[in-house]
Amino acid sequence: MVALKPFLETSIEYLKGVGPARAEALRSELQIEVFGDLLTHFPFRYVDRSKMYLIKDIKDENTFIQLRARVIKTKTIGPPRSQRLIVTVEDESGQIDLVWFQGVKWLVDKIANGQEWIIFGKPQLFNGQWNMPHPDIEPPETEPLPISRIIQPIYSSTEKLKSKGLDYKGIGKLVKTLLLHEKFYVPENLTRDILERLRLIHRQDAFLNIHFPQSPELLSKAQARLKFEELFFIQLRLLKQRISRLQKNEGHVFATVGNYLNDFYHNYLTFELTNAQKKVIREIRADLGSGKQMNRLLQGDVGSGKTMVALMCMLIALDNKYQSCLMAPTEILANQHFSNISRMLSGLNVNIRLLTGSTKQAERNVTLGLLESGEVSFLIGTHALLEDKVQFNNLGLVVIDEQHRFGVAQRAALWEKNQRTPHILVMTATPIPRTLAMTLYGDLDSSVIDELPPGRKPIITKHVYDRDHFKVYNLLKQKIREGNQVYIVYPLIEESESLDLKNLTEGFQTVVKEFPQPEFRVGMVHGRMKQQQKDAEMKRFLEKETQILVSTTVIEVGVDIPEASIMVIENADRFGLSQLHQLRGRVGRGSAQSYCILMTPEELGNDARIRIKTMLKTTDGFEIAETDLRLRGPGDLQGTQQSGILNLRVADIIQDEKILKFARNVASDILNDDPELRFEKNAILAKHISHMDEHQQNWGLIS
Ligand code: ADP
Ligand code: MG
Repeated sequence: MVALKPFLETSIEYLKGVGPARAEALRSELQIEVFGDLLTHFPFRYVDRSKMYLIKDIKDENTFIQLRARVIKTKTIGPPRSQRLIVTVEDESGQIDLVWFQGVKWLVDKIANGQEWIIFGKPQLFNGQWNMPHPDIEPPETEPLPISRIIQPIYSSTEKLKSKGLDYKGIGKLVKTLLLHEKFYVPENLTRDILERLRLIHRQDAFLNIHFPQSPELLSKAQARLKFEELFFIQLRLLKQRISRLQKNEGHVFATVGNYLNDFYHNYLTFELTNAQKKVIREIRADLGSGKQMNRLLQGDVGSGKTMVALMCMLIALDNKYQSCLMAPTEILANQHFSNISRMLSGLNVNIRLLTGSTKQAERNVTLGLLESGEVSFLIGTHALLEDKVQFNNLGLVVIDEQHRFGVAQRAALWEKNQRTPHILVMTATPIPRTLAMTLYGDLDSSVIDELPPGRKPIITKHVYDRDHFKVYNLLKQKIREGNQVYIVYPLIEESESLDLKNLTEGFQTVVKEFPQPEFRVGMVHGRMKQQQKDAEMKRFLEKETQILVSTTVIEVGVDIPEASIMVIENADRFGLSQLHQLRGRVGRGSAQSYCILMTPEELGNDARIRIKTMLKTTDGFEIAETDLRLRGPGDLQGTQQSGILNLRVADIIQDEKILKFARNVASDILNDDPELRFEKNAILAKHISHMDEHQQNWGLIS
């Protein structure tokens, strides 16, 4: 028996009008490989073709419009091989030139003076005059337009595809061929119950109408149906994975509230926990005692005291006779955690060890031995913790600091360090907007520390133009003389790394000249330096040998230097919002008034202006993250590359937040009832999910 390949998985090459060359171009340019891919290459916009423009009303480039005008003059210019055809047309309001660079010979014969045409295209401004390159022209219909042509779909295309005749219109033709194919059939993937309850249109109708809408109403119904479907299956899959994880991984039960925690809390903690910290610790303790494996994301702004929460959890693990580890993304941070935690626990008898890339072999061996025999209670370190040689005796809790710096695979490696999966707490200071978190980390529970410890002086944020540099330098001198330390940060954008490095070193030289020795001492760190060099420079700053640290964003994460109270960000217009926020979080940790100074040129783009304005207006990390998401779209946010969220075809997690929440509720109701989707009535959903798994999100949204 030969298995029949489903229609939608047929190679695009076999669609009428495609062939090998176009197939190759569709594959390389738009990742369209099979019929299903073309079907989900949705129009990015629609043009209302029932509307006619007057020539005098043209005012926008790059939007499609439709004119009804009469030819008054035709001329060709240029040598025969690169001939251009210019057709001047006129309506009651004015004139415009239509221009063709291709197909001139053929067109010349078709176009005669006095003829009236319906003209459809994008006007463009050239030497102060409007013209329209390569419009579509058609004779005016005597009959009213067939309805499917009133709403014209516009497809994205590329130069290469256009050269093969596949502009938006060419692609539209292919889509039409597909939809009219005698075997065209899109199976339903939602249950009848969902369709009826939510009044969604059928899948096949949705696909027909999203490409060639029969009416504006049907277009919006098609969009609603497909957006729901897209978000629903993401949520259903995430929530289902979560259920099976909870079933599969029994968690260590940390039932004891023991001496270590109590002793520390009552005798060594030098400050009162904030209410937010208490709330989060309660949430975590509930998880740890539940018998289910914890997988929790802890979000809290820079300086909100996440490390303290982590430490308390590690003490709970210890009270229950389990080992914990804390992994940080850099050596500096690991060292800092190690020395802070060692200091805080110095009165308690806890065996804490540090393991990083620069731990000496002899010491490493001792640590590894003690770890395996169970004598080490807390292991703190960097990626070095992931190595195979690192074997625990009974690892109960894994804490990962600044999780966005680690890949999914690295996180998973820590899971494997124990027979029974340890509890996992991942911490991040890069707030993740709720909608994104729901999609990106749908499998993680989330806790938020939404309050800073008391007594912090708000950081003063200022925007200064480059021409006023000297004022900033004067302020810095004064502040340094008062004992403060200063960061000066330059952007590093990967595409032009060498150029940026030049900026940085030039900046460094300027700063050195402006702040001469011996009164001032300036250090520099950047991403091209070896880790050891970087650490040495950071250490010099930490130990106050230098007062100014010129750097790229390598200092963005985690480091805690209370005397560093001023952050100057050069070319602040070139940084993303979340980055600016992270950088600002490096200061404001000590008792002195802190400043964040955003330097920019006077000319600012629109987005840059919004970013600077947002920084001046708020220090709320969540508000900043929301604005960032709105400005950049989800694709640029950290972590999204791994998530497949980029592959959203119709839905938009910002605009469709309501649908997302709704879809999540529907998915969660279904799973409450039928956690493994075993019921006959849910078979259609189970089938679609396994299809998605097989196709790895490629065109998994079809089936
Ligand atoms: P985060 O990792 O969330 O950026 P940290 O855990 O490094 O923040 O805490 C920042 C500083 O605040 C540390 O010096 C820490 O000791 C201190 N801190 C934490 N919690 C409190 C609290 N409840 N009250 C006062 N200071 C606190
Ligand atoms: Mg931290």
